[in-house]
Order: sequence, then C-alpha cells, then structure tokens
Amino acid sequence: MPKPPTDNLRQVAAFGRAAVAGGSVAAPLPDDVEVSFEFFPPSSDGAEANLWNSIQRLAPLNPKYVSVTYGAGGSTRERTHATVKRLLDETNLLPAAHLTCVDATTQEIDAVAQDYWDMGVRHIVALRGDPQDSSGRYTPHSGGYSFACDLVAGLRQIGDFNISVGAYPEVHPEARSAKADMDNLKRKIDAGADQAITQYFFDTDVYLRFVDQARAAGIWVPIIPGIMPIHNFTKVANFSKRCGATIPRWLGDLFDGLENDPETHKLVAASLVAEQCRTLHAFGDKQFHFYTLNQADLTYAICHMLGVRPKHPVGSDADDRTNKKQTG
Ligand SMILES: Cc1cc2nc3c(=O)[nH]c(=O)nc-3n(C[C@H](O)[C@H](O)[C@H](O)COP(=O)(O)OP(=O)(O)OC[C@H]3O[C@@H](n4cnc5c(N)ncnc54)[C@H](O)[C@@H]3O)c2cc1C
Repeated sequence: MPKPPTDNLRQVAAFGRAAVAGGSVAAPLPDDVEVSFEFFPPSSDGAEANLWNSIQRLAPLNPKYVSVTYGAGGSTRERTHATVKRLLDETNLLPAAHLTCVDATTQEIDAVAQDYWDMGVRHIVALRGDPQDSSGRYTPHSGGYSFACDLVAGLRQIGDFNISVGAYPEVHPEARSAKADMDNLKRKIDAGADQAITQYFFDTDVYLRFVDQARAAGIWVPIIPGIMPIHNFTKVANFSKRCGATIPRWLGDLFDGLENDPETHKLVAASLVAEQCRTLHAFGDKQFHFYTLNQADLTYAICHMLGVRPKHPVGSDADDRTNKKQTG
C-alpha cells in the first residue's frame, strides 16, 4: 500500500534539535511500536537451549514475527527448517523463514519454499546470500536464482507469501553505485516484495536520507530499520567491515575501555540503542527489526524503553506465547 511521501530531511530542518530531543529516552514512552526478532539456527545442544531461552524471554513482547536466518550447507539449512518447524509446532509466534539463492538450483529452492508453504509458513525473507568460498566473490549457481529479485519472482509463483527483502542504507558493498543499489531494491519490490528490512546502521541520518531516496525512487513499501544491540563492540566492529556498516568514531569512543567490563558495556549498549530507536520513532518509524544474535537481554531492555511490554505480567501462563502445546 503506497504511503504518502515523508521528507525526513525536511523534518530535520523543521524540527531540528526538538525532533531529536523528542526521540530521546527521556521523552514520554511511545505506545505504537511493533517489533520483530531475528534468530539464527543453533549448531549444538547448548546453543539450542540458549536460543529457546531467548525465544521464551522475548515471546511475551508479542513480536509481529520472529525470523530465522538461513546459512550455507545442508546441515545449516536443515537447522533453519527445524527451528522454523519447532516455532510452528510449539509456539504461537509467527515465523519468517530466511531463504537464499546460494549454491542451489531453482528447483531445490522452490522445493524448500513449497515445503514451508505446506507447513503453514507465510513469511519469507528472500535474500541472495553471501559467497560460500574464501574468494569473497559471489557467483550465481548456473541453474539457480541469480539475485534476490529473481528469488522474489520465483516465490510469487509458489504461494501468496508475505515477502521481505534486504535493503542497505549505506549501499551494499558489491553494488556498482548507490543508484544501482537503489534500482536493485526497486527491482525486488517490483518483483513482488512486500517490505524491506535494512542492514543495521549506527548513523541515523544516513538511514533517514536513505528512506527519503527510496521514496523519491518510487519505493513505497514499508522500510523497517534493522537494529543491532551491541553485545560485543569488537565483534560488531569487525563484522561491520564485511557488511558495509560504518562504525562512527563516536561509537568507538563510547565503548573504549569497556572490553573487560561487560556490565558497563551492556548498560551503555542498551541506552545507546534505545536512544537510536527513540530518535527513529520521532522521525516516524514504528516498526523495528532486532538482530538478537540469540541473546535476549539487550533486546528486551531496549524494547522496554520503547514502550514494548509483555501483555501480561512476566511469568503468568497468559503471557507465554511459547506455551502453545500446553494451552492449546
Ligand atoms: C535483513 C537481512 C537479513 C539477512 N539474512 C541473511 C540470511 O539469513 N542468510 C544469509 O546468508 N545472508 C543474509 N543476509 C545477508 C545478505 O545475504 C547479503 O547482504 C548479500 O550479500 C546480499 O543479499 P541481498 O538479498 O540484499 O542481495 P541482492 O538484492 O540480490 O543484491 C546483491 C548485490 O548484487 C547487486 N545486484 C543485484 N542485481 C544485480 C544484477 N542484475 N547485476 C549486477 N549486480 C546486481 C546489488 O546491487 C547488490 O550489490 C541478510 C541481510 C539482510 C539485510
């Protein structure tokens, strides 16, 4: 559904500091925020227990959906499938299954999608995926979908999925130019995607500008900011080099000296990311997608500061959306 143009830059000019102050953690709580949570499939029994503890902790926040990432190789893919199936079987959460084009024929990918449809999965996050070898260069499978836009078009033939795609406020690292990347996002939407979820970012202005440019390019579907709670600044900084997310100098300064002080690191991360979300909310964003990294605590605290609370007191049977089997 097309949305009226929002000119974030004009808002910045008009409201300036007042708009940003309105988004600070000291402003009144929003009451209209929706959240979704991304998890990755576990690779061991210990990781499985941790994942389900995290799901249990976050489920009472009533997420719009929870998504499960998709990796390279057969066993990783089977773990995605198993996690999505368990979410369907044992919880009342709505799962969104990630699917990529890497290393598979169109028939193989279509079969996975058909299987998801038959299981009752209605939301797919459709991605190209990253190269699996050490070359760092992506080569489409000769019999496969080449890019995410091709996958979106293929999924549309299989079922009436709700389809999310990736978007890159700081431009995808392999894109020829920012314009080429925006054209690619438009191709994905034109192929049938319903919304875009962004790569995480720390410079909020860059994201706001990106949304304005997307609207100017005729992209009217919801663009949902991807939010990265910073559990470990060093790890996030390293990963950011690969995925093209800038680490502003002020961010490094904030975490400087906290390498061996996890308690303070956590407090700083929670207030920083809550402030980022509150600023985005002041500029009109009402939906946030959290890259939880299978850890609940920061995401839970940030949601709390966004006014997202359990519908029922924590610990009561009624709040437990992970209790499908027991509650029918
Ligand atoms: C929300 C989100 C979730 C993710 N989940 C996963 C996951 O579960 N598993 C995983 O492996 N990865 C995941 N990723 C990472 C993603 O797979 C990588 O960022 C990947 O490099 C690009 O995927 P895409 O779907 O954006 O690709 P595309 O939209 O296909 O774009 C990839 C690049 O190719 C360029 N391009 C597109 N079409 C053409 C063309 N015809 N000719 C030349 N260049 C073209 C684009 O500009 C861009 O640079 C996720 C990313 C995001 C944002």
